[in-house]
Amino acid sequence: LVGPDGSVGATIFAEMSALAARTGAINLGQGFPDTDGPPEVLEAARQAIADGVNQYPPGRGMPVLREAIARHQQRFYGLAVDPDTDVLVTAGATEALAATLLALVEPGDEVLTFEPYYDSYAAIVALAGARLVTVPLEWPAFAPDPDRIRAAFSARTRLVLVNDPHNPTGSVLDRGTRELIVELATRHDALIVTDEVYEHLRFGTPHEPIATLPGAAERTITISSGGKTFSTTGWKIGWLHARADLVTAILSVKQFLTYVNGAPFQPAIAVGLDLPDAFYARIAADLGAGRDILIAGLRRAGLTVSVPEGSYFVVADAAPLGATDAAAFCRDLATTAGVVGIPVSAFTATPGAYAGLVRFAFCKRPDVLREAAGRLSSLS
Ligand code: PMP
Ligand code: GLN
Repeated sequence: LVGPDGSVGATIFAEMSALAARTGAINLGQGFPDTDGPPEVLEAARQAIADGVNQYPPGRGMPVLREAIARHQQRFYGLAVDPDTDVLVTAGATEALAATLLALVEPGDEVLTFEPYYDSYAAIVALAGARLVTVPLEWPAFAPDPDRIRAAFSARTRLVLVNDPHNPTGSVLDRGTRELIVELATRHDALIVTDEVYEHLRFGTPHEPIATLPGAAERTITISSGGKTFSTTGWKIGWLHARADLVTAILSVKQFLTYVNGAPFQPAIAVGLDLPDAFYARIAADLGAGRDILIAGLRRAGLTVSVPEGSYFVVADAAPLGATDAAAFCRDLATTAGVVGIPVSAFTATPGAYAGLVRFAFCKRPDVLREAAGRLSSLS
């Protein structure tokens, strides 16, 4: 992770945001919304600060948030979660992932995930001393081949790390694949860690957590975050729920990573989790409209598109424009079109994979997406 000169390599997200800032291009690279979250949630944080909620909260998270997480899981998915023993509040989903893997994986274990994958996965697996084993998601559907999932399991598989809906591809796992993962994890006595930060950003069928499948809850750690649902990525309030003994093991690591986090933001995210169904329907509808604006622009520009069913990302193939190296294409695009995307190759360790594919974020205001779509059209 550290270069020979002692420098720490910037993540692709920081690098591409810097490129957008330098060139004045529209930043559809790093995934963050350009509109802040619902007013009730923002106001609740201001109120919490005014009320003096500014000192260390409890290590497991404030009861008001843990209870809201449990209510949310019951309301949307029918999952029974005990807020006292089964829930842990974390510094974003990132810390939930890190603490979980550091607590539950031993050096030499294998961790199975789909590739491409969110960039912190490989880093955390390496920090845990484990080996990452991947199953490819292939353009354009990004649906895994069941036989390759079966073949990826071994006697050393300790944990399967699933991201549904998926970053960067925007794909969602069908029920058959989720059932296969549970069946194979059970047979190999492996744990399932499921990163569901985009659970409410769905454009077709509603989200169904793996933990709802028969036999899954006892071996599944379910992770989410307030950053995506409530457009508060800078607050870094995430959480996980799992069997009580697993939560205790993860807490034993979390206490030495961040100890606790974000006191005034916790009751605010609790307010968000209790917002009425209309709020959740609206964020999905608004995002779906943004998706359609951007997809139309990408197609007009001559790129082919894999239509995402979830998340706020769309992957497009720049090969029809002659691009064979998406990283070079993205660097040029900042000046040729004034738009920044992220090469999908940043989400894989396989050299040459996903050559012409670019990820664009559409969690932006409609006028910004229309402007980006117009700029892209100038390419064709
Ligand atoms: N997992 C995935 C798949 C993500 O896309 C992100 C956000 N970039 C995270 C985890 C991290 O979430 P948080 O900001 O809550 O740490
Ligand atoms: N989740 C966002 C993305 O994938 C931001 C990630 C980050 O900045 N680390 O773009």
